[in-house]
Amino acid sequence: MARTLPAATGFLAAVQHGGGRAPEADFAAAGSRAALRARPGGLTLDAVLLHSGAPDAAHAHARGRTAVLAGELYNQDELLTLLPGRSRPVTDADLLLALFDTYDVHAFRLLNGRFAALVAGEGRAVLATDHAGSVPLYVSAVPGTVLAATEAKALRTAPVGRRIAAARRVRRLPGTHQVPAGTVLDLEVATAGCTDHRTWAPSPARRIMPEQDAVEAVRCALDRAVRARTGPDTPLVVLSGGIDSSSVAALAAGHRSGPIDTVSMGTDLADEFPQARVVAEHLGSAHREITVHTDDLLRRLPHAVWAAESLDPDIIEYLLPLTALYLGLDGPGRRILTGYGADIPLGGMHREDRLPALDTALAHDMATFDGLNEMTPVLSGIAGHWSTHPFWDREVLDLLVSLESGLKRRHGQDKWVLRAAMTDLLPHETVTRPKLGVHEGSGTTSSFSRLLADAGVPADRVHHAKELVVQQLFDRVVVDGRHPDEVAAAEVVQLVADGPARDAPLLRR
Ligand code: AMP
Ligand code: MG
Repeated sequence: MARTLPAATGFLAAVQHGGGRAPEADFAAAGSRAALRARPGGLTLDAVLLHSGAPDAAHAHARGRTAVLAGELYNQDELLTLLPGRSRPVTDADLLLALFDTYDVHAFRLLNGRFAALVAGEGRAVLATDHAGSVPLYVSAVPGTVLAATEAKALRTAPVGRRIAAARRVRRLPGTHQVPAGTVLDLEVATAGCTDHRTWAPSPARRIMPEQDAVEAVRCALDRAVRARTGPDTPLVVLSGGIDSSSVAALAAGHRSGPIDTVSMGTDLADEFPQARVVAEHLGSAHREITVHTDDLLRRLPHAVWAAESLDPDIIEYLLPLTALYLGLDGPGRRILTGYGADIPLGGMHREDRLPALDTALAHDMATFDGLNEMTPVLSGIAGHWSTHPFWDREVLDLLVSLESGLKRRHGQDKWVLRAAMTDLLPHETVTRPKLGVHEGSGTTSSFSRLLADAGVPADRVHHAKELVVQQLFDRVVVDGRHPDEVAAAEVVQLVADGPARDAPLLRR
């Protein structure tokens, strides 16, 4: 069977001058571990790779350099045109290393992918995220040693690192920083000095396109993004029945001769099962429905924080139903496609008709997505799966962001250009269905709020209390390294509701 998951889905690496000890790895993501030891140009590289059977495809060595890549590239064919004499099959790590030979750090400006990467050699440790920072990457560096990992908790016992001005500090892990989205950090190992390069930024300009051209461009870009992510085996689409996930499912079905798999999640409070079923029947997918009781859902709060390593209560609340969904999927690791992210570049959450407000919201959302870890693969990784998001493909995102807002909000519809692009592939009711967030469609928001209200938190303090709950959970499962099964969300909620923490100042970041 062809491999369906990326060669590696995570890593912890130590790049040192002279010898060193192999790091101990602490990951939430499931997977086999492989140790890697290399000596790129006078440095020592010790790494642990999280993988699903082919770890050797996740690293490459040539001309005194070693590259390690967690995740995958989606524009290999395009990249190969830059490397005459090379042809498929070639691993993503090989490709990265070859491009690095030619372009050095600027190689990362060429990549469209979902990855975190390290290139070591010539006294340097070069760390890079994809354009969206969709695979989180953390770093802790002191003179002589650079530690990097795809989960912050893997660095929790690292020596206190030097301040890296270009990166974000991580709460209560002194010296640990998160590499920003679309960024390369070029670290000199001997001194821990750092130079940063931005490899991607969302366009602030808007393109004017005739309606039909825009519709065709969106269809074409999304179709390519879905195809690049579909993999050799039957893909699984997490399907809400909204326009975003239904578009992904319809295009994925178009690339397969047999039926694709789809799955929907609901709770005892709410579900979108009928809407998803309409799409599943239309596409002829092998469809499943998973119902999670709200109590069980809330018990997964520590798991959501453990996986996402995010301190934003709205993000955790949003990610909770998906965490529960992924944990509810049994069987071997799957390649999962989601409809995540269309609303950000298309302003889908925006329900009023005024275009200036839409552009303002969009500019704000594109300026603030980084570091929230909404797209982290660890979310499905804790259950052994690999998730990927065609709407945040670099080409799709660049196109969607740049379209003038009148193409996004048109004829009284939100996400108009996407709906128009999908009219022939989906039922009419799906194409015209209004937006419902996963946390709304599953009743998560109301159940998390009720949990706090039941514990005695006054209504106007509920959001603040959620923030404190998430901080407390973060401290336990990330900073202290406890397993989320050992952390009772209900106890933490009670602690926040009762304790002096209730009057604590708002989150300090
Ligand atoms: P949303 O917030 O609705 O845009 O959700 C983001 C993505 O999560 C969707 O595009 C779907 O792929 C997935 N999703 C949302 N709700 C559900 C659900 N109830 N069941 C399965 N997948 C869902
Ligand atoms: Mg939805």
